[in-house]
Amino acid sequence: MKIVDRPSPNFDVRKTPIDLVVLHYTGMKDAETALRRLTDPAPKAGDYPGPWQAPDIDPATPLSRVSAHYVVDEAGVIHRVVAEKDRAWHAGVAMWEGRDDINSRAIGIEIANGGHDYGLPPYTDAQITAVIDLVADILRRNRLTPDRVVGHADIAPGRKDDPGEHFPWKRLAEAGVSIWPDDDAGAKVVSRRGDRGERVHLLHAMLSAFGYDAPEEESPAAALFSERTEAIVRAFQQRFEPHAVDGVVRESTLAKLDSLIDDLDDED
Ligand SMILES: [Zn+2]
Repeated sequence: MKIVDRPSPNFDVRKTPIDLVVLHYTGMKDAETALRRLTDPAPKAGDYPGPWQAPDIDPATPLSRVSAHYVVDEAGVIHRVVAEKDRAWHAGVAMWEGRDDINSRAIGIEIANGGHDYGLPPYTDAQITAVIDLVADILRRNRLTPDRVVGHADIAPGRKDDPGEHFPWKRLAEAGVSIWPDDDAGAKVVSRRGDRGERVHLLHAMLSAFGYDAPEEESPAAALFSERTEAIVRAFQQRFEPHAVDGVVRESTLAKLDSLIDDLDDED
């Protein structure tokens, strides 16, 4: 595991102990551009052109200051940007297990990859090997279990799509640094956007039990499979059903959720 220091001024003080690892893709052209942005104390739009910006944006427009603890470049070199004891700025508006201020409790890892804006390029093998080694080391040193590793899309569904459906979560799980459900159920559609009632209420309860910021309703009759529900289901599929990221719930989706929740309960 090769780690080089590339310190950023973009951090402040944690308010809670570390208990999560959040994986991201950089969504930028290359690792060097991402490292410049993550260490820039006053980033401006003109310095970071990309498909996410309006073409007529004033180049002097200030961008938000961001950072992460680590950046894993295309060759698998790990750049240490913020010390783990400090609070890096990578999660943004996010929620997991009913709690916000994810930055205070997370270690953020940015993996250099263009992401959806650049046509979902594959991650390199060297990168994934480095990510697995790094996460294993973080979990061991911080006494965290593999279920504490999440994607940015999990904690900000609908707003964020990273690390995306090309990220090999299953390989991480096989290496013992993430989780993977049993998945022997069928592909029959169970529920989709616009559905209401008991079945949707149960789906929301299961998504919440896993950690997602799912809608809560007073009674089963009030449950609606909303745009928000769909965004969460898509985030779940990007991670656990990457061949079918369409926001539609199938028997297999429910079976996987159920299996993951069971595994979490077993650990308590
Ligand atoms: Zn991200």
